[in-house]
Amino acid sequence: METEQCPFCGASVKKENLKGHYDRVHPKQPGSLVRPTQTFARASVFKSHRRGNLAILALFTLAVIGISYAASELAAANTMRMHWHPQLSVTINGSPVTVPARIGIDPSLWKDHSLDQYGMEGMSPLHTHDTSGQIHEESNTVHDFTLQELLAIWGQRLDSNQVLNHPVDPGHRAYIIVDGVQKPMGTLDVVFVDGQRIQVVCGP
Ligand SMILES: [Zn+2]
Ligand SMILES: [Zn+2]
Repeated sequence: METEQCPFCGASVKKENLKGHYDRVHPKQPGSLVRPTQTFARASVFKSHRRGNLAILALFTLAVIGISYAASELAAANTMRMHWHPQLSVTINGSPVTVPARIGIDPSLWKDHSLDQYGMEGMSPLHTHDTSGQIHEESNTVHDFTLQELLAIWGQRLDSNQVLNHPVDPGHRAYIIVDGVQKPMGTLDVVFVDGQRIQVVCGP
């Protein structure tokens, strides 16, 4: 009977049982199957750390992109791309009606907020500063703005039955004159142009 000495414990073990002895008595010794498994486990822990680092780097990159995008959006929102001054006058039964100051600035004269995204520094993109009838069109985006949008911000009606808060009297009519050309009321949306003169008239 051939025996061999176990190199770990010195026991005499039958040659054909030596492998079984290693596995049963010395499973953690070098040469057993445990070690490569541990090495493999360590490698996969290292790998998952790397994956974590990559995830953090990706998040950081996204954050930097997000911050610079927000900053550029803010800069765009604060850059005036249009600054036009159409002129509005209103005449009812031959008398001029004052266009108030601070339309689109004072909350009581800022009824419609659907255009606020285009506005500069807390003002509607369509507003007035004084009672001269000068409309300020100050926008962070090149965009068509209309007389009807100004009236919505101001909170006034303008159609063939009513001009601002004045109902059209029987036998009277309402119309608009744009740079000297008469337009029927209520049939068109007047797009503002720089320096344009718009007259709203109600009378016989
Ligand atoms: Zn202004
Ligand atoms: Zn202006």
